[in-house]
Amino acid sequence: MTLPHPALSATDPELAALVGAEEQLQAETLRLIPSENYVSAAVLEASGTVLQNKYSEGYAGRRYYEGQQVIDQVERLAVARAKALFGVEHANVQPYSGSPANLAVYLAFAEPGDTVMGMALPMGGHLTHGWGVSATGKWFRGVQYGVRQDTGLIDFDEVRELALKERPKIIFCGGTALPRTIDFPAFAEIARECGAVLVADVAHIAGLIAGGAHPSPVPHADVISTTTHKTLRGPRGAMLMSREEHAKALDKAVFPGLQGGPHNQTTAAIAVALHEASQPSFRTYAQSVVANARALAEALLDRGFDLVSGGTDNHLILMDLTPKEVPGKVAAKALDRAGIVVNYNTVPYDPRKPFDPSGIRIGTPSLTSRGLGTEHMAAVADWIDRGVTAAGKEDEQALATIRSEVAELMSAHPAPGLAG
Ligand SMILES: *Cc1c(COP(=O)(O)O)cnc(C)c1O
Repeated sequence: MTLPHPALSATDPELAALVGAEEQLQAETLRLIPSENYVSAAVLEASGTVLQNKYSEGYAGRRYYEGQQVIDQVERLAVARAKALFGVEHANVQPYSGSPANLAVYLAFAEPGDTVMGMALPMGGHLTHGWGVSATGKWFRGVQYGVRQDTGLIDFDEVRELALKERPKIIFCGGTALPRTIDFPAFAEIARECGAVLVADVAHIAGLIAGGAHPSPVPHADVISTTTHKTLRGPRGAMLMSREEHAKALDKAVFPGLQGGPHNQTTAAIAVALHEASQPSFRTYAQSVVANARALAEALLDRGFDLVSGGTDNHLILMDLTPKEVPGKVAAKALDRAGIVVNYNTVPYDPRKPFDPSGIRIGTPSLTSRGLGTEHMAAVADWIDRGVTAAGKEDEQALATIRSEVAELMSAHPAPGLAG
């Protein structure tokens, strides 16, 4: 299934062919990367509009360029929808993506060299939470918490002890490989005790929060940072949200602190995604994402897989393949050949190296967007099980068989945005 791109095909057939190939890949494969999704045709259209052509440095009503009669309305609409959906006093929809959004938070609340605290990358945190290879760990003094080895869960006594000892200016909660509910009130209490700004980075779970399938960080966190393209099912972009008290500092940090002109076509597509996320059907979607992840986790446990923390509360499952004696990267690459797209990932206390870790990370946002339900999760677990076994035996025939079975199910469940 590929979409018509008449102008692109005429001007640049080489690039048009690549787009068509990507459409086919996305249509035929089972996409289990938990940070990915399928945007709707409406979001796709909005992000490909002439709003692309307009410069609009500044904020609505306070721009440095003229001709903002329409752009101001677009941005105001996106901001109003973000505020209504998440129940916040302030929203900035201009950050180019999640990483620049987080950098703007540092700019707003800390000076270079200040101490900041976040979850360690190999424990499930994000690079931008003060990890050493990131600018946030080079320009700030990052101290890092993790999860307990025996439970795979955050130990709040340990977080509190570290926070009171190190006195960070900013504490980040949230991450990229966390299969469990984030306890925002517990983080808020610690942040209060040590006088830190608490940032809830809900990039992965924003859609679950919007759909009522994960507790909201409002009003516990001082700042909420999120991407718009993961469970929220919008275009690649980000938002910063807060109470009115922090509005000015955040806005100034995004522009002129860090960025120039906002990507207005993205702002428009964010507005559309926020509208979609406010519909009753999105609540159903968010609940289904979680129900599917639970069912998939159960089906994997039934097949003898080891899951970090023993299961999942959200959209994400972190599998430790150590007992299967198949390295994460070998499994991920074999599953890719079988039409199942995952990413290899470190597991907490991983004895292997980050570029060759023990685990794979999977999630249910994309397959749920295609209408797969809990009744399909046994088949998905079975494909993963057979794929991992085939990876260990280098059985290419078995992988090819899985690939055709996957493609058959996928063809019966066309993806949003690709279905037309
Ligand atoms: C994805 C993610 C980001 C970064 O988003 P990009 O758009 O990739 O820059 C930041 N924080 C968390 C927790 C994420 O999951």
